[in-house]
Amino acid sequence: MDIDTIAAIATAPGEAGIGIVRLSGKEAVNIADKIFRGKKDISLKNRETRKLHYGHIIDPENDKTIDEVLIVYMKAPYTYTTEDVVEINCHGGIISVRRILEIVLNNGARIAEEGEFTKRAFMNGRIDLTQAEAVMDLISAKTDSSFDVSLNQLEGALSKEVRVLRESVLKMLAQIEATIDFPDEDDVEEMAYEKMQEEGEFIFKTIEGLLSTAYSGKIIKEGLKTIILGKPNVGKSSLMNAILRENRAIVTEIPGTTRDIIEEYVNLNGIPLRIVDTAGIRETEDIVEKIGVDRAKELVDKGDLAIVVFDASEEISDEDKNIIELVKNKKSIILLNKTDLEIKTSIETLKNYLPNKTILNTSMLKGEGLEKLEKTIKDMFFKGDVKINDSIIINNVRHKDLLLKAKKNIEEALESIEMNMPIDCIEVDVKECYDNLGEINGDTVGEDIIDRIFSDFCIGK
Ligand code: GDP
Ligand code: ZN
Repeated sequence: MDIDTIAAIATAPGEAGIGIVRLSGKEAVNIADKIFRGKKDISLKNRETRKLHYGHIIDPENDKTIDEVLIVYMKAPYTYTTEDVVEINCHGGIISVRRILEIVLNNGARIAEEGEFTKRAFMNGRIDLTQAEAVMDLISAKTDSSFDVSLNQLEGALSKEVRVLRESVLKMLAQIEATIDFPDEDDVEEMAYEKMQEEGEFIFKTIEGLLSTAYSGKIIKEGLKTIILGKPNVGKSSLMNAILRENRAIVTEIPGTTRDIIEEYVNLNGIPLRIVDTAGIRETEDIVEKIGVDRAKELVDKGDLAIVVFDASEEISDEDKNIIELVKNKKSIILLNKTDLEIKTSIETLKNYLPNKTILNTSMLKGEGLEKLEKTIKDMFFKGDVKINDSIIINNVRHKDLLLKAKKNIEEALESIEMNMPIDCIEVDVKECYDNLGEINGDTVGEDIIDRIFSDFCIGK
């Protein structure tokens, strides 16, 4: 196990109010003592822990002042890593934190790897793997709901569920042992098989229940990849603006793969939409025209949802028909906009072209139809009501894959029980189920996987 002392800049690069350099490990406080000068000449060890102390960071080689700081010493074991932790709050911006990090490294710390602080928290047993992963997800969350799901996971909701599951699997294994110990007693065997079946069915159902949240979990985490389509002037920008107005929480704007496509996170009443190509929409340009039919088709194919806008005050045009071709076999919701004007195209007319689609009358001018749109999206993508705050939602592909494996194991064990197969046939599957579940919270996980998980973290966390 690592026992050296690590250090990293914990705040994001750039101009900011403060910057933080963080140290963790046995030498943290000794290193800090070498470079910190407070008003009184007291060692940090002898100052109150978990309190900010004012002073300066000095380069001990030449007594040069590096920056004015507040420093805090958090004594092991009740810290993020469970080790001694020191945090130096200095002025924001890139120079101060870099200078301080350099001094810290010159005085005995090693630069931390990605996620190494959290990895130590995991290695030292303070959190399990799902909680460590939740830390990462919290940092990278782009929507409120995604953040809430991760927070729930960090608090240990998923860990607990996995522990309960594994205890049930252990009970099954105990039944197996009992049968192996008394191989000739038929009634022992019969009872054991019955109990195993009961336990197995509980495990199966619980895993299935968890897996049923995975689709919502993916959407919550990644956003519902949505494209808004329609010929020019039908009201796409107005729709986009209405969505933005109602939901100020635009979390981020990330550049897409090509420069003319951007994605924007919007929170539509709890549903995170990742709207593609808003640049085009907002500049009152037509996506299809802007990027070409093939690219538009590709976007529609890759997306989760297309919202297609038509103008109720006009007849359906050839341009409309092209768009209908693009979306008619895709998950889409059709909006018939401008219903406040004299109507030339009705829902019934559109139905002829798009028989299986939900078509909604809207008027962006009057702000009508958005609620129906929200409800339609909810019904389309979330089974029942997704209560994000207090339920466990699987939003991690690694967890999902392991649950699928564990489900298959238990399914096979149940089949063997059903067919009265020899006990060791059953045992293999049940043991594998136990291991696969253990990999979720890190009880039975290889070092390579741990390394891979933490390498996705950012430095300083
Ligand atoms: P886009 O080209 O598809 O993005 O369409 P815009 O959102 O820019 O709207 C084009 C024009 O239609 C603008 O003048 C809007 O004010 C108007 N418009 C949008 N929605 C409605 C609506 O529901 N009713 C009416 N009467 N006008 C609308
Ligand atoms: Zn527009």
